[in-house]
Amino acid sequence: MQPVSKLPHIGTTIFTIMSKMATDEGAINLSQGFPGFGADPVLLELVANYTKNGFNQYSPMSGIPGLRAVLAEKTKITQGYLPNSEDEVTIVSGATEAIFCAVTAIIEEGDEVIVLEPAYDSYEPAITLNKGIPIYVPLNPFDFSVDWDKVKDAIGPKTKAIMTNSPHNPSGYVWTKEDVDTLAELVQETRIYIISDEVYEHITFDNRPHFSLGAHQDLRDRTFVCGSFGKTFHVTGWKIGYCIAPKPLTLEFRRIHQYVTFSTVTPIQFALAEYLEVPDRYLSIPAFYERKRNVFAEGLKQTELEFVPSQGSFFQVARYGHLSKISDRLLAERMTKELKVACIPVSVFYSTKKDDHLIRFCFAKEESELQEALERLKNLQNLWL
Ligand code: PMP
Ligand code: GLN
Repeated sequence: MQPVSKLPHIGTTIFTIMSKMATDEGAINLSQGFPGFGADPVLLELVANYTKNGFNQYSPMSGIPGLRAVLAEKTKITQGYLPNSEDEVTIVSGATEAIFCAVTAIIEEGDEVIVLEPAYDSYEPAITLNKGIPIYVPLNPFDFSVDWDKVKDAIGPKTKAIMTNSPHNPSGYVWTKEDVDTLAELVQETRIYIISDEVYEHITFDNRPHFSLGAHQDLRDRTFVCGSFGKTFHVTGWKIGYCIAPKPLTLEFRRIHQYVTFSTVTPIQFALAEYLEVPDRYLSIPAFYERKRNVFAEGLKQTELEFVPSQGSFFQVARYGHLSKISDRLLAERMTKELKVACIPVSVFYSTKKDDHLIRFCFAKEESELQEALERLKNLQNLWL
């Protein structure tokens, strides 16, 4: 039996490929985005206690009320608006699920969805499975800011939604207030939805604020905000996230979520509900990651790579085009095998696999590991031979 594939163009993700190569080659893995250090022991203890004390059955479909309430409160503290935790906040099994459910809730056959690229790899399959049509708009080369004229030109009568992502994976670009205002102006007279991927909401640097699109009063009615506790609290393997959206959007979102997973891991929800009661636990995250960004950027200056320090996320993009014209995929492979440092080729984030000779590093690692990787990267010239 051979099913007719709904995603015939999709293979194994680059994150899986590069992480496996890193393991096989004994390389330092700065490819797939996951922290190389543990979570706060307080959080781990909470999870252990809730599992031991009988919090192990299905939770309510939309998430436990305590976690929804404290998440709404966090949104008030960080973004200045209080979503209604009853019917505007849903706990899901990771931001990937949130994005999938949001897309599925609104996209019908033939609907166009604007995707700014380079883009995270889960957007396109979600759109395609729902028979939507991704319309790609390139971000500006070099700094990955948004070319708003291009977005405007891409909007047409069939545009149903725009996918946004700030802080941005892979580039680290963080949207400014002007970016958010411009988007609000562009969609004001339309019925376009926004699916806003904000998984790195707590990882911004140099006092840059994160502007959630849900916080903008002209965007709120049309926006699904997708978040991830995995990213914020260094526990990507827990696969727990959320979607904040106004009531009519949440209603449709939950209709899908109900039959994708029904509900999300119970003891972790209780643990997070208690953990989030102390705002410093998320307010301290930017400084924590900024130190790592700085260590990585300082070290990278000692190599031949060109880069602009990341503004947010736990990624740093670097350019090698002035050194060699080998493809970014080949470079990533050779770097892993020969220098024993794994990275991600940025071309994989483009629909056309456009190769601008850029690679992405994940600096969510212990400083000693970053230092060792940086030491190895000083020998880059060996790769061009
Ligand atoms: N969006 C972006 C931009 C990401 O980098 C990730 C991380 N994998 C996700 C969504 C998915 O998050 P989660 O692991 O919570 O599903
Ligand atoms: N978001 C992670 C990255 O960009 C990968 C997550 C995954 O492997 N699906 O590296």
